[in-house]
Amino acid sequence: LVLLSCLSIGQAEYSKYKDAQQPLNVRIRDLMDKMSLAEKIGQMTQIERLVASPDVMEQYYIGSVLSGGGSTPGPQASPVDWVNMVNEFQKGALSTPLGIPMIYGIDAVHGHNNVYNATIFPHNVGLGVTRDPELLKKIGAATALEIRATGIPYAFAPCIAVCRDPRWGRCYESYSEDPTIVQALTEIITGLQGEPPLNYSKGVPYVGGKEKVIACAKHFVGDGGTQNGVDEDNTIISAQELFRIHMPPYYNSIVKGVSTVMASYSSWNGKKMHANRQLITGFLKNKLKFKGFVISDWEGIDRITSPPGSNYTYSVEASINAGVDMIMVPNNYKEFIGKVTYLVSTNTIPMSRIDDAVKRILRVKFVMGLFENPIADTSLASKLGCREHRDLAREAVRKSLVLLKNSNSTSDKNPMLPLSKKAFKILIAGTHADNLGYQCGGWTIEWQGESGNTLTSGTTILSGIKSKLDPSTEVVFSENPDPEFVKSGSFSYAIVVVGEFPYTEMMGDNMDLPLPDPSPTTINNVCSNIDCAVVLITGRPVVIEPYLDQMKALVAGWLPGSEGGGIADGLFGEYGFSGKLARTWFRNVDQLPMNIGDSHYDPLFPLGFGLTTTTTS
Ligand code: BGC
Repeated sequence: LVLLSCLSIGQAEYSKYKDAQQPLNVRIRDLMDKMSLAEKIGQMTQIERLVASPDVMEQYYIGSVLSGGGSTPGPQASPVDWVNMVNEFQKGALSTPLGIPMIYGIDAVHGHNNVYNATIFPHNVGLGVTRDPELLKKIGAATALEIRATGIPYAFAPCIAVCRDPRWGRCYESYSEDPTIVQALTEIITGLQGEPPLNYSKGVPYVGGKEKVIACAKHFVGDGGTQNGVDEDNTIISAQELFRIHMPPYYNSIVKGVSTVMASYSSWNGKKMHANRQLITGFLKNKLKFKGFVISDWEGIDRITSPPGSNYTYSVEASINAGVDMIMVPNNYKEFIGKVTYLVSTNTIPMSRIDDAVKRILRVKFVMGLFENPIADTSLASKLGCREHRDLAREAVRKSLVLLKNSNSTSDKNPMLPLSKKAFKILIAGTHADNLGYQCGGWTIEWQGESGNTLTSGTTILSGIKSKLDPSTEVVFSENPDPEFVKSGSFSYAIVVVGEFPYTEMMGDNMDLPLPDPSPTTINNVCSNIDCAVVLITGRPVVIEPYLDQMKALVAGWLPGSEGGGIADGLFGEYGFSGKLARTWFRNVDQLPMNIGDSHYDPLFPLGFGLTTTTTS
């Protein structure tokens, strides 16, 4: 009898969904059959870590937690601190009767950028210049390792926006204005998630093991096409244009097995994307056969404001019925859960829609092996910011540089670059020469980025330059020297590093796109007195034509990240310049929007432009 009861206990514990030998669909079906409505709604709910706790995870069956921009367990938290935090939440989720693991997500958009000491890669605007899918794949793989080093399995990346107007504050998150360049660089997904086997079905999410993460193609769709580049605004274009310009990167992402897609805050012809059933369900899920899950943006459903006077109940209904599966709530989860429960009870949201959403979420969790390995360990901790990844980031920096000018006139036989390592005395000037925060830009440790050299570790442009110079060369650094100082200094030449200050999302919208103060003064004070090479640290083209004559050389360095010292590799000729613009450089903002192929195309530098130099060593 004792033996029998032991057996029956053993049998009771066996569930097909827990058995990794069972086919995926069997596991999903078995688990779905066992779930209550509350458990299902919990799976669809993603909350911010600041409101999460093991108790909340357990009580509300929460399916996912995120770190929103800058939300870290501490400003200098180590991989171990992160792993411990993630595991605490996970233990809460695992304490529920069915023990469905939660999934932790984070914005790792240029490396694991919320984490102190992580490798920060150039922002996408620079990576677009490389046009190098293999490089992007390596960057994806390195980023995945660093994310996993902190116990996290899910990245809200890549942003595959096709930015059509640099006035948009998120232009630097876009690889290019040209959809073909963005399409090619979706190869980063293969690096993040791993390479699906050849016989893999198109549209099914893929994650290849414990060193890979779930990727998220965002923001679906048309985020880069809003009027005047206003963030979260309205993209007013024909269906033909939408499908020609903004949709193609999604085709490639789905072929590569991207596991999740994030809806865009923006509207298409007045309709909020979070409520667009035709595009999310009709096109993405039905036509493209996308089998992963669609996640909302942060409070994205709250932004659904049409029809006029609509309330939160309407937002919940409209978004879930449109096909959004997981909702980044992220704070007010009790109200959200209450609304969904009510809307299901009135059949306003059909149960079949809830089931579809939950199946998709569970599919991703099964595919990535989360049920087998829900608790993270610290075995990858040494990967965070490791030498190999920093070398890769430096390679990316070199390949992202675009040389826009290199002599005073076409007849000038003395191009300024590459610079000599052995000079009598050189001047380095500009706000951005010695500022790690500025060279990393937004989405670095803090949501809006930061100023200074202590926010994380890396190589500033100044230190990169200094490391190249012969010890006999005297180096003078001054952020904004006055003209007399420059004139009387007997300098052989100067390097001026100036640009934009960090910004993220709508905080970066700018209708004038000036080169910010004090950059114009610095350029004037230095370049009108001695030969100078200007390096621009910006997230996009800015108004530069008025200053162009003063400078002898001009390099677009974009937002190079923690290994920005790699700019010196190009300046001193260890690597030749080869980058070609992946964005049009406008003359003045009255021309905007202006993209390659437009009839009024009259750029300062066209897409594809870039001078070359040969290596000297
Ligand atoms: C951004 C998303 C990001 C999300 C989570 C939103 O503000 O639009 O790109 O993934 O926040 O941090």
